[in-house]
Amino acid sequence: MVVPIGIMLNSLDRDFFKALALAQQLGFPVIHTAALPEPWLTGPECDRVSAALKASGLEVATMFVGFAGQSYADIPTIARTVGLVQSEYRRHRLEVAKRYLPLARGVGAPSVTLHLGFLPDRRESPDYVGTVAALRELCDAAHQYELGVNLETGQEPASRLLTVIRDVDRANLGVNFDPGNFLLYGTDDPHAALELLFPLVRGVHCKDGKRPAQAGTLGEETPLGSGDVDIRRLVRRALALGYRGPLVIEREQGSGLQEIIAAREFLAMISISNE
Ligand code: MG
Repeated sequence: MVVPIGIMLNSLDRDFFKALALAQQLGFPVIHTAALPEPWLTGPECDRVSAALKASGLEVATMFVGFAGQSYADIPTIARTVGLVQSEYRRHRLEVAKRYLPLARGVGAPSVTLHLGFLPDRRESPDYVGTVAALRELCDAAHQYELGVNLETGQEPASRLLTVIRDVDRANLGVNFDPGNFLLYGTDDPHAALELLFPLVRGVHCKDGKRPAQAGTLGEETPLGSGDVDIRRLVRRALALGYRGPLVIEREQGSGLQEIIAAREFLAMISISNE
């Protein structure tokens, strides 16, 4: 089974336009775009981004939504700064997320994707209830543009993400499955997570890594194929289950182009030898 191999743009370069040019040069047919600076969404940059994506001829499989002030430095910082969980940022961030919708629609992307952040365990907690309500509002707004909303996996066990998705109860809510995150955050086994979440999988990040050495810290990302994910088994299983979307390479901690090219060759070999 041959599925397209894509790239998460900020794995190539932090600069959107440089990364887009590199993706074209390297011949990736499909991309995920990373979060844009918030002011771009209301400024002239929004039209520039849209025009550049259309002119590139690349397929935009999803646009990631992100927010000013987020940091992935360590677990406590992520808990404090990332996603829709924090009540003091939630309304503003929801409005930011909605600004991505016409942009995504305009460039032909089928969805937007975001990190929720660390949800409280208790479903009665105000931050849990508020986040679920915010997600409903985002899904309903996305529906107006015929778009899906995907949640990035791995910051919580798959079963908890599934609970959230059921509580939100919107047909256009799915997941972007990132096997590496389950290990980096030490939350779940990526293979068990795939079985649980598969019907909701709308995208796949090919990212590898190792579990944290100490609880409460982040694990280490590795080149694709040299971490503990067993990406070969994971990709083959996703294809066997019926996944036909792109396999999108993501490398967050910086790598260099040679490593990304090697990751693409590795994935091409896996998907061809699966036939
Ligand atoms: Mg990811």
